[in-house]
Amino acid sequence: METILTITNLNKIFNKRVHAVKNVSFEIKKGNVYGILGPNGSGKSTTLGIVLNVVNKTSGDYQWFNGSLPTHEALKKVGAIIERPNFYPYMTAEENLKLVCKIKGIPYSKVFEKLELVGLLERKDSKFRTFSLGMKQRLAIASALLNDPEILILDEPTNGLDPQGIRQIRDLIKLIASQGTTILLASHLLDEVEKVCSHVVVLRYGETLYHGAVDGMLSNEGFFELKSDNIVLLKERLQKHTAVKDIKIEEDKVFVYLKDHLEADELNQYLFENGIILQHLVKRKNSLEEQFLQLTKTN
Ligand code: ADP
Ligand code: MG
Repeated sequence: METILTITNLNKIFNKRVHAVKNVSFEIKKGNVYGILGPNGSGKSTTLGIVLNVVNKTSGDYQWFNGSLPTHEALKKVGAIIERPNFYPYMTAEENLKLVCKIKGIPYSKVFEKLELVGLLERKDSKFRTFSLGMKQRLAIASALLNDPEILILDEPTNGLDPQGIRQIRDLIKLIASQGTTILLASHLLDEVEKVCSHVVVLRYGETLYHGAVDGMLSNEGFFELKSDNIVLLKERLQKHTAVKDIKIEEDKVFVYLKDHLEADELNQYLFENGIILQHLVKRKNSLEEQFLQLTKTN
């Protein structure tokens, strides 16, 4: 699968104090819908800002389209809405989008195509100021899609909308994705990511707690929470176990995510036979929600 964006060990420290993004790495492949999920202040917008070249990174790297183009050229193939849409209030939807076409050298025919896609063709002659928040957001999406970008980036796309508006935006995102556009969205809403995304990166305080398929997170295999004096050896032994998918260390706890079924007593025995004495062993079932709450718990 074609790679759209590769982020490697990205860091952002604001004012030498706030470590907003910590060693974040993930890859975006063509055709998927990615969510960056995390509570407010976890570094989602900063991460998006960096890859869109509006925030300077402190260290690490990102690469668009395998580095085949310089960043400013690559960004012409990226459609992004990271702030509240900015249109002329007294101009109509059509006029606003035509203006964007003129600035970017896009044929006007795209205006009608994209207005139709977002369900605003009938309102093309209405002034922007008469639009509801949800319609304004849909117009912003139409505008970001005018040049048929490879990827659409949205930051908290449903913030402030009423339930109907939220539903419309989520359906629209799914429709756009179904037509082959890759999507990256940031959200603090678990159910949004669960409903819309195929892949997720979970951030807390700028750190990646999970990245992978949403389905993987939803898998019924569950995960273990372990404690031991020798975390280094524990990690090494766990990595050798075939049922283990992923290991995350947080403070003194080790979280073990599974790809195959494994009972607590089997794991305990395996570790014991491999020289590890556990001080703590809990198996948890993970709905995405439980896991998200678990992962992002602040204490
Ligand atoms: P999110 O989008 O997940 O809510 P942000 O990326 O906006 O999180 O913020 C991450 C952290 O970086 C927060 O602690 C925030 O206060 C801080 N931060 C964001 N932008 C700036 C800035 N321009 N100057 C200083 N600190 C910032
Ligand atoms: Mg944000």
